[in-house]
Amino acid sequence: MPDNPHATAKRLFQEHVVWDDHAGFGPDPSVDLNKLQIWKDAGVDYLSVDVGYDVMDWRMTVKSLAAFRRWIRATDGYRLVTSVAEVRQAKKAGDLAVTFDLEGMNCLDGSLDMVELYHSLGVRQMLFAYNKNNLAGGGCHNGNEGLSDFGRAVIGEMNRLGMIVDLSHCSHRTTMEAMELSSAPCIFSHSNSRELWDHERNIRDDQVKACAATGGVVGIVGIGIFLGNNDIRTSTLADHIDHYVNLVGPTHVGIGLDYAFEGEGDDEGLGAVLDAAPDYWPKSQYDYPAVDCAHPRQIFELTEELLRRQYKEDDVVAILGGNFMRVAEAVWK
Ligand SMILES: [Zn+2]
Repeated sequence: MPDNPHATAKRLFQEHVVWDDHAGFGPDPSVDLNKLQIWKDAGVDYLSVDVGYDVMDWRMTVKSLAAFRRWIRATDGYRLVTSVAEVRQAKKAGDLAVTFDLEGMNCLDGSLDMVELYHSLGVRQMLFAYNKNNLAGGGCHNGNEGLSDFGRAVIGEMNRLGMIVDLSHCSHRTTMEAMELSSAPCIFSHSNSRELWDHERNIRDDQVKACAATGGVVGIVGIGIFLGNNDIRTSTLADHIDHYVNLVGPTHVGIGLDYAFEGEGDDEGLGAVLDAAPDYWPKSQYDYPAVDCAHPRQIFELTEELLRRQYKEDDVVAILGGNFMRVAEAVWK
């Protein structure tokens, strides 16, 4: 163990990019983006911000994109980026680098042309179906559907444009078919291990191995009911990382915390969102009195914890951001 995990973690945060591959706050044009300061205070350098998911109408996604783009471009301390070089420049300047992601292809409204439109607006990763089956493929809580012809066509378009194929929230079959078909590395931006906690949102070892075989990365997520029994301890985050590292090695693991600030300090928040659309969040899987999420500041604690668990510095740096950066460098155009 390094003599002082705290000092080592501090140095790693100064010298290397800290990458959070997914934020979970509600994509809505009226959301207060000053809250992005939470990630800056936590030492995060890059954040993928969700701008839409299947539960909402695609027009709201376009409006959210318009509002988020305008705010980020107008506000000191934040940058919309299109390359890993720009992520590094943002870190140097002390800015938070942002790109956008989409959770589910209802936002395409059946049109392949929409992929390029979203790409041009800053979307750099997109997943197929959000929990429930849709026009592109199968969701993780809705049987085990495969990709549709439309979903297959979208993969080709994402590969062409340089948008990362993300498989979180999808059915087992859809994930395996997409990884087979994609010519570029695929990711699970925010998915924990089903071996450690048997929730349908979590993924099996064969999915993790197939993802690593594409050159991709699996990001661990901070939602308590995917980590364990609404368990958001930093040591539990580290346990899910340990499992993945033992399975596929440290070069295919990252962090997609999915932190949603709406839940801070009130009883509404995540629980109320889940109750509002029970077909997307079936009671059998979401019957908890509360749903907590690990805070971005825990990424620093996680770094200390991995060092305490004898992880090599290089491996910690890779998990903190190097791995997702490698994928972005290979895919983004
Ligand atoms: Zn999600």
